Amino acid sequence: MLLTERIHLSPPDVGPAEEAGVLRALRSGWVAPLGPEVDAFEREVAERVGVRHALALNSGTAALHLALLALGAGPGQVVIVPTLTFVATANAAVYTGATPVFVDCDPATGNLDVALAAELIDRLRRAGRRIAALVSVDMFGSCADYDALLGLCRDAEVPVVEDAAEALGASYRGRAAGSFGDAGVLSFNGNKMITTSGGGMLLSDEAALIARARHLSTQARRPAVHYEHDEVGYNYRLSNVLAALGRAQLGRLDDMLDRRRRLREHYAKLFAAVPGVEVLADGDPGGNCWLTVIVVDPERAGWRAGDLGAHLAAAEIETRPVWKPMHLQPLFAGAGTLLSGAAERLFERGLALPSGSALTEEQISRVTAAITEFLGAHP
Ligand SMILES: *Cc1c(COP(=O)(O)O)cnc(C)c1O
Repeated sequence: MLLTERIHLSPPDVGPAEEAGVLRALRSGWVAPLGPEVDAFEREVAERVGVRHALALNSGTAALHLALLALGAGPGQVVIVPTLTFVATANAAVYTGATPVFVDCDPATGNLDVALAAELIDRLRRAGRRIAALVSVDMFGSCADYDALLGLCRDAEVPVVEDAAEALGASYRGRAAGSFGDAGVLSFNGNKMITTSGGGMLLSDEAALIARARHLSTQARRPAVHYEHDEVGYNYRLSNVLAALGRAQLGRLDDMLDRRRRLREHYAKLFAAVPGVEVLADGDPGGNCWLTVIVVDPERAGWRAGDLGAHLAAAEIETRPVWKPMHLQPLFAGAGTLLSGAAERLFERGLALPSGSALTEEQISRVTAAITEFLGAHP
């Protein structure tokens, strides 16, 4: 029996260019978490995003951790985190000893609700809490409303970390994702826009912030032959071999963006006439379309997001609900929150569709046929 090949949500998109990069790094003899590929990768990403400094790390989570440490987060402080995010955003706050407090999102984009964040800052200050930072997540590759958010945080004197893990290549009013706030974070995990199979980057215009993070990322080792350490550090650097993989991916970013955006347009057309179905953040001209998420109102559509998910799963096509909000996670039971219900609704109604740049025409046709079949059976 011929097995149907499974279609994944956002598989790595690697080929000859990546193979050549890895081989070049191996043959150069720089097989360690430093070397010329790492330096070049940092320069190239910084240039692409339009920031002065970059630090290549072994995960986006490590970049979030170091960003918060460099901004002084620690015990006795709170970090404002969107409840709709991947757990890494909140965990990074916990690693520093600070306490995450969760704020709800804008239902149209899934990004942090700026008005609610303003109210939360106000409430926390009145309760005498010290706010180390606010982390904003560019959900599924669409930037948050940075004009409003950065204005708010400047006035309130709250440092901002932009979690752009999903947003490489996206932009907001002409400025690239990763360049907003005091520090930006990228992820190069296997399912992100570009991959180093695992990796991340910390970005900032502030040399001192990056220097501090660089020190912490290398076991806080002082330059001395006998290995001198003045505080607790981490082993967080990206390897030279993987940086070469990242450089090859970065060179293909525009093509990969193009493919994801075309998929988004394709899905938007497919669902355009379907009542009760909307594409999340549709109409964001700067979105990188990392994942295309549809939001299904079961009353109007007559079916649930999960029904389509089950139908596609039976056809060996992977889909996923949007992130389960942090305030619903057992890990964060009892955490402080300011909620509107928007994240919970998106969790119930959202479905991420196969969105990878490596999807072939044949795979896209299979997904299209399966969705069309479902819609035909649910008029
Ligand atoms: C992927 C992701 C991260 C973590 O990145 P890793 O490289 O997997 O550690 C952080 N935040 C968000 C929003 C992500 O999607």
